[in-house]
Amino acid sequence: MALIVQKYGGTSVGSVERIKNVAQRVAKWKAAGHDVVVVVSAMSGETNRLIGLAKDIQAQPDPRELDQIAATGEQVTIGLTAMALQAIGVPAVSYTGGQVRILTDSAYTKARIISIDEDKIRADLNAGRVVIVAGFQGVDEHGTLTTLGRGGSDTTGVALAAALKADECQIYTDVDGVYTTDPRIVPSARRLKTITFEEMLEMASLGSKVLQIRSVEFAGKYKVRLRVLSSLTDPLLPVAQESVSGTLITFEEDPNMAMEQAVISGVAFARDEAKITVHDVPDRPGIAYAILGPIADANIDVDVIVQNVGHDGMTDLSFTVARGDLSKALKILKDQVQPHIKCREVTGDDHIAKVSLVGLGMRSHVGIASQMFRTLAEEGINIQMITTSEIKISVVMDEKYLELAVRVLHKAFGLDQA
Ligand code: ASP
Ligand code: MG
Repeated sequence: MALIVQKYGGTSVGSVERIKNVAQRVAKWKAAGHDVVVVVSAMSGETNRLIGLAKDIQAQPDPRELDQIAATGEQVTIGLTAMALQAIGVPAVSYTGGQVRILTDSAYTKARIISIDEDKIRADLNAGRVVIVAGFQGVDEHGTLTTLGRGGSDTTGVALAAALKADECQIYTDVDGVYTTDPRIVPSARRLKTITFEEMLEMASLGSKVLQIRSVEFAGKYKVRLRVLSSLTDPLLPVAQESVSGTLITFEEDPNMAMEQAVISGVAFARDEAKITVHDVPDRPGIAYAILGPIADANIDVDVIVQNVGHDGMTDLSFTVARGDLSKALKILKDQVQPHIKCREVTGDDHIAKVSLVGLGMRSHVGIASQMFRTLAEEGINIQMITTSEIKISVVMDEKYLELAVRVLHKAFGLDQA
């Protein structure tokens, strides 16, 4: 018998019919002898609707009050899910975040979990009940409601699994797992049976938005085995089959990690970045700080940074920011930085894309980068910037080459379906 935390997202509880499906699925796991804790999101679209109501009254809603409103969507689905279970003869009880006591800090709309009181949940499980917990919400030390940021139910699920030392946290969603790349670009992309947390973090932050990033970080930190699987399959699919479906996100040492780990796990990409180049800056100490300091002070995240070799005492510095931050960053550079450091010009380009190879196997294989660059060269794709980590190589290119690059790399690294 195992203790399992199952999280169902907005689509999975999007209607009364779907909630009844969830109940059947949960009942099946319970009947197979497992203890089940269920975390649900609000019905799909509901959190947006609630936030919209708030914005109809205040353009910049008061964060405390916004959380009071936004958290109500989950309060509806926990009650409905508990009822749907009871209706088919499964004892079930629901709790809001505050009732469990998921204690968070007071950073409204992006609160962090501090601790989880597991006593109540344990007692219910011991009494044979399924426990349903509202995702996305907690309370601070004053008992005030907080929310964990959009998509935060994933984090609730993982945090509960960590607190309860669950055997697995299953994230049910409308896709059937994590793929080697986006199947809309490469139809022959394969579902990964396993992937490590480190790889998943690189894949997720690079645009494979299956899970809230924070939940993956959390799972990695507390060693919670995470499985992403489909809630659109037949709810009565046998447990033996369902328990090995989807994608298992786990640690390297997990005996469930695929024996034959491929060198490269996937090709990720992002098209929501923009490149800024500061041309002909004096090549002397303090320049990178003079340029990037004010950008950081404005809370703008910088991703890839490249500084070229100096020539005649001058150099160019390029970096990428989120596309939405481009005009703000350019304004800061032109108004505050350029007069000061006396560079020749500051330019911005919002037609770029970033394509990345991700794979733990890079640590022990040489020649991955050169194979990547050769593959791109053969297609005449110009690389504008390169950045690497232990398990990732990213290149920035003109956006128009994005799909081609993803396709050829996916093929070159043997990721296409056999
Ligand atoms: N309902 C919340 C949202 O839409 C939390 C979640 O779905 O994970 O962001
Ligand atoms: Mg979600």
